Amino acid sequence: MENKYNMKSPAVKRLMREAQELSQPTAEYFAQPVEDNLFEWHFSVRGPADSDFEGGVYHGRISLPPEYPLKPPSIMLLTPNGRFEVNRKICLSISGHHPESWLPSWSIRTALLAIIGFMPSPGMGAIASLDYSQEERQKLAKKSLEFVCPECGKILNLLQEPSQLTNENEAVQAEAREIAAQVTMKGESSNENPTQEPVHTEEPTTITQQQQLQQPAAAAPSTNNNDVSYNYIIAAIIVALAILLFRRFASSMMA
Ligand SMILES: [Zn+2]
Repeated sequence: MENKYNMKSPAVKRLMREAQELSQPTAEYFAQPVEDNLFEWHFSVRGPADSDFEGGVYHGRISLPPEYPLKPPSIMLLTPNGRFEVNRKICLSISGHHPESWLPSWSIRTALLAIIGFMPSPGMGAIASLDYSQEERQKLAKKSLEFVCPECGKILNLLQEPSQLTNENEAVQAEAREIAAQVTMKGESSNENPTQEPVHTEEPTTITQQQQLQQPAAAAPSTNNNDVSYNYIIAAIIVALAILLFRRFASSMMA
């Protein structure tokens, strides 16, 4: 592979390093470039314990842009799981930011942990998210063990046996939850026009909350302005009355 790529390219250097770092399968995740393409990886993740996905192993693709790590990878699940749509691109970004935001310090490992951390979270109707019932997800978790990738083979064999040391699994899962708390995973809209703003149907709840917040905020200044001018008028009347009263009082004292 070394001969095929420009070794001066930051993306190539970085991906070579990540492939080396991830070359040993763990019990929780494994990812490697597919043969002959450093920018196209396949991964497997184990469903987190104590979730509907426990016992399942899920396979997918990660596509890396030529600008990686400045631009984010896109992720696609291939094994039916009941949480993410299969064959649909999902992007990872910093929580609360524009979907394009991604930290170059994040890596393919971060993306894998984010997937593990995100699986038990509610889909909330976001694009590429699914809210299958617990029963359906557990059924799919069992079925996932039979999944065979045309390129990688039986995915169950790609991960290490679950470790007897539960501490190890717990540490990975705690890290996965931590990452999932900092990032959002959003499906790309089916309209793949990159210049277009992402569709706002992605998070209907957040949008309506924002609108609700914006409406009173937008209305407030105008009522404030009215209040201010009202206050001036009332103050002027009071001052005028006070002057009148003072004059009368003064004139009666003089008399
Ligand atoms: Zn594969």
